[in-house]
Amino acid sequence: MPHVISVANQKGGVGKTTTSINLAAALAAEGRRVLLIDLDPQANASAGVGVEVGSGESIYNVLMDGVPLAEVMRASSFERLDVAPSHIDLSAAELELVSALAREYALRRALDRAELPHDYVIIDCPPSLGLLTLNALVASSHVVIPVQCEFYALAGLAKLTDTIGRIRSALNQQLDVAGALLTMYDSRTNLSRDVVEEVRSNFPGHVFETLVPRSVRLAEAPSHAAPITVHDPEGSGAQAYRAAARELIDRMEGTQ
Ligand code: ADP
Ligand code: MG
Repeated sequence: MPHVISVANQKGGVGKTTTSINLAAALAAEGRRVLLIDLDPQANASAGVGVEVGSGESIYNVLMDGVPLAEVMRASSFERLDVAPSHIDLSAAELELVSALAREYALRRALDRAELPHDYVIIDCPPSLGLLTLNALVASSHVVIPVQCEFYALAGLAKLTDTIGRIRSALNQQLDVAGALLTMYDSRTNLSRDVVEEVRSNFPGHVFETLVPRSVRLAEAPSHAAPITVHDPEGSGAQAYRAAARELIDRMEGTQ
């Protein structure tokens, strides 16, 4: 079974999609076979690795119609990296799932049945704690939590870890926090440094050593339909996501 890792934070704009794309690509560059599941109706992760959503089947059909995951999976333009694309219809799934039987388990069932050849499944979650994110967390063994270096970071993180604790006791006992990943770090500002210190002291052992810097190159990479490891392989953004991927591998594969 692959390591299934959700990239989640109920807040929008904190770097979930950027992290999903670039962590997935960096894991693939480390020789791991990776499936990136795009669970956000905005489909930015799919587009970010060059997969057009168009009219084809998507993760929506997997969740709502029981279509096998293998049927919606596509190869990206990058070696060892496949994508289960999103679709704008997925925004309706949030409501349609409410009345579905065992509604929290739709994604988990699909993954259990799929017998994937991948080493890692990375799930890009939408910016809410609705049924889509719940499906992701129920299907996952670990969560990566991107945290933007800004004033309210800690409050949002506390709410999410609380939710993760409740999911662990009610729906998925194996769920664990792989780590909070601090994003858009700017070493020139006191605020960034304060947030890092605060998050590290409040969540000891659950924060990535790697800091993802604020970088224009990271922000522009999706418009080139390429992860940062391809768009700007020597830049600070690529270095950070490669380092974060290695931390994750150490954590998941126990090689530290
Ligand atoms: P989310 O998926 O949590 O909503 P995104 O990954 O889409 O967040 O990031 C929100 C915005 O910030 C996007 O425009 C993205 O390009 C930009 N961004 C994300 N990470 C960085 C970074 N490290 N440096 C600069 N811009 C970033
Ligand atoms: Mg996103």
